Amino acid sequence: MKAITLHAGKEKSALRYHPWIFSGAIEKVMGEPECGETVDVYAYSGEFLGLAAFSPTSQIRGRFWSFKDKAPINRAFFSNVLDKAIANRKSRGFDVADKASAFRLINAENDGIPGCIIDKYADLYSIEILSAGAEFFRKDIFELLAEKTGCRGILERSDSDIRLKEGLEKRKGIVFGEVPTEPVEILENGMRFKIDVWNGHKTGYYLDQRDARKRIEELAENRRVLNCFCYTGGFGLFALRGGASSVIQVDVSSDALKIAEDLVTLNNLDASKVIHTEADVFVYLRKCRDRAEQFDFIVLDPPKFIESKDHLNKGARGYKDINLLAMKLLAPGGMLATFSCSGLMEIGLFQKIIADAASDAHRSVQIIERFGQPADHPLNTAFPEGQYLKGLLLQAE
Ligand code: SAH
Repeated sequence: MKAITLHAGKEKSALRYHPWIFSGAIEKVMGEPECGETVDVYAYSGEFLGLAAFSPTSQIRGRFWSFKDKAPINRAFFSNVLDKAIANRKSRGFDVADKASAFRLINAENDGIPGCIIDKYADLYSIEILSAGAEFFRKDIFELLAEKTGCRGILERSDSDIRLKEGLEKRKGIVFGEVPTEPVEILENGMRFKIDVWNGHKTGYYLDQRDARKRIEELAENRRVLNCFCYTGGFGLFALRGGASSVIQVDVSSDALKIAEDLVTLNNLDASKVIHTEADVFVYLRKCRDRAEQFDFIVLDPPKFIESKDHLNKGARGYKDINLLAMKLLAPGGMLATFSCSGLMEIGLFQKIIADAASDAHRSVQIIERFGQPADHPLNTAFPEGQYLKGLLLQAE
């Protein structure tokens, strides 16, 4: 039998259905499980806790597939998980049969497949596998996904460095059907986007900001908008459609900006109102400050500044810096939509940083709305680590 036993007292998180088992919690490993193989997990008392994937080199040594249930982890298990995800997404307005839409179908630990992200882009799927357990069953997952969705192709984008921590090599390639090299077109709230599933960030795009982008459209009328960390321009495009008087799109990636520029015409928006600027936002905001520029709406949607606990202070300083600069650039009544996608930055701390930034900028600022993860990026209540995206909509006096 392949099994692990936990140290006394270390069963508590499993009893609360938390999916991770840290290496320090394990007392004994029996039966020499392979990387990713399923093991029985027992408390020190001998109580059976559940079935987990074993990950010999990771700090997260095990990830639970199921709790207090001996039903084997096999193709039927994944078939059931996918069926549930497809049905639940449909009930939230995300239908796999819709060949134009884009959404997240499997959100890893939050959807019962730890370490596995499955994003749908039109009739293609882009999958990222980050855990030994999901890797072990990858073929089943790909085949079932193809079968259940009738998609045109599946691309595996397991090319992030996190894989190395799990003892997995990076991998990128077609695992089913065909996936063209040219960008695939999707529709997001009526806006056309071109997604480069092969080379785009993450699985190709930032699906998690869909709701926030829509909200900006509703607020942008007659406003001068500065969209920082714009990637392929999403917030700026919605602002333009919402009647913004001007939009500046800023990013360091020239490839992303090129797509952003193409999307303006693809969506029949007024290209004379938008400027695309390749720049480091930290430097660009300082230039705007030195030129005493003003904006009526600023978006700050930076990449993850905090990758691990050691980066918390440095990351916090980064958030403070850009928010302080942005607040200085806000015209009276101006709005700032500010985000953090660092899971390690808790909302309380983020709000404190925003308060400090406002105080240092000598601005009186109100929080008027909050942003979080949309319904296709659900949160498992037993897994607080799954909450990474948070945002505040602020208005300055
Ligand atoms: N708002 C975007 C997603 C932003 S992702 C959307 O709605 O799709 C973060 C972006 O920040 C990436 O495109 C990345 O290229 C960019 N980036 C990272 N560091 C940067 C920096 N210092 N200055 C400008 N852009 C940066």
